[in-house]
Amino acid sequence: MSAEDSMEAASRLCAACGMCCDGTMFQVVRMQTGDVPAELGRLGLKIRCRDGEYFMEQPCSGLREKRCTVYERRPMRCRLFNCQQLGRLENGETTEAEAMTMIVETRTLVEQVRGLIEQCGLREDGQALAERYERVMSTPVNATLEPELIAVREDLEERMRELKLQLNREFRLPPGAP
Ligand code: SF4
Ligand code: SF4
Repeated sequence: MSAEDSMEAASRLCAACGMCCDGTMFQVVRMQTGDVPAELGRLGLKIRCRDGEYFMEQPCSGLREKRCTVYERRPMRCRLFNCQQLGRLENGETTEAEAMTMIVETRTLVEQVRGLIEQCGLREDGQALAERYERVMSTPVNATLEPELIAVREDLEERMRELKLQLNREFRLPPGAP
């Protein structure tokens, strides 16, 4: 596959995925050298500062229908990030069709997790998935009065475990990767 074909395939895959921008994979994106936080904030991105370190909250407000609306001016980390699926595609270790299947399977798992979180009583609130999950799981439940809820939470715990493994194995980069 030529470099141009590979870029076009990557673009189609990202348009079907969006998981590195929509709060599924990350809760924050750290600002890097070359980023100008004030400028990124003026684009509508959720730029925050804690202990002198700037970061961008996820889900990203620049994402619309799985597309980056600030693509030309996106932060450095976004420019440098290539998930494992895109890396394997570039190296010829996977095909576009295989990567697409992986994305569809993983997104199905994400939707199951989201559905179970809602069944536990937490509506979509614009927070990252891991944060919403933690909020649900840390809410006390009376097992005698709410046995159905216990069953839903057990299912949620299992699906979330499966999702984390899949994201680590197939999408996130190993610690220390550039
Ligand atoms: S996780 Fe990978 S395929 Fe999905 S949007 Fe991000 S870079 Fe694209
Ligand atoms: S700025 Fe664009 S590429 Fe970066 S997280 Fe937001 S939508 Fe994704």
